[in-house]
Amino acid sequence: MIQLEGVNKHFGHLHVLKNIDLTVKTGEKLVVIGPSGSGKSTLIRCMNLLEKPSSGKVTVDGVEITAHKALVAKVRQSVAMVFQQFNLYPHKTVLENLTLAPILIKKVSPAEAAEAGLAYLERVGLKEKANVYPSQLSGGQQQRVAIARALAMRPKIMLFDEPTSALDPEMIQEVLDVMVDLAHEGITMVVVTHEMGFAKTVADRVIFMDDGQIVEENTPKCFFENPTHERTKSFLSRIL
Ligand code: ADP
Ligand code: MG
Repeated sequence: MIQLEGVNKHFGHLHVLKNIDLTVKTGEKLVVIGPSGSGKSTLIRCMNLLEKPSSGKVTVDGVEITAHKALVAKVRQSVAMVFQQFNLYPHKTVLENLTLAPILIKKVSPAEAAEAGLAYLERVGLKEKANVYPSQLSGGQQQRVAIARALAMRPKIMLFDEPTSALDPEMIQEVLDVMVDLAHEGITMVVVTHEMGFAKTVADRVIFMDDGQIVEENTPKCFFENPTHERTKSFLSRIL
């Protein structure tokens, strides 16, 4: 579903992604971990062209997204992203947050978009909040709305960039529960997270990034029980 071949990313003199090769299968749940500044966000942002690689090839669902500029909008429709900061539209109601893009970009009728939007809100347990504004919700609720909003575009791939890192501890689980639910439905997911419990229970594969490189990758069981690289061991000893 996603293939990166020889991907490099430079920000000025900073070499942030170093010759990354990575394949994510259809339906796979890939968890990305690693220290701050190691390039995790840049890596997943290259998967929906929020960042354009300096060199190398990114292919999503058979389409080389690094090939044509014109495809950006199309790519973003099939590859949705959920951020640490929820980025909801503050002056739109919860339901409007979900229906805006389907109406404007996918040309879905407002009635149809509203019906689908309510169904997605129900899935994240927030149907009764359809007509309130984001500021009236807790952080955990806002992030669940952000996930529902991403789903409303019916993406093939969901990218999550530390979706629980900005949340108060008591709200983390409700967001993880929604993500676990989603994982069981077979959508392809790439998740940058420090939630090792999530990685252990949901991931098909964990990759560890350091200094712009994938240092180690394995099934969660092998990864956590038998990390092979020194850098992985030292990172895990600090966070577990
Ligand atoms: P992570 O998500 O693992 O913390 P990032 O991918 O955000 O790492 O960042 C990797 C490196 O690239 C960091 O040194 C960061 O400061 C730098 N970086 C990220 N985005 C930009 C940008 N838009 N301009 C310049 N430097 C950036
Ligand atoms: Mg990051």
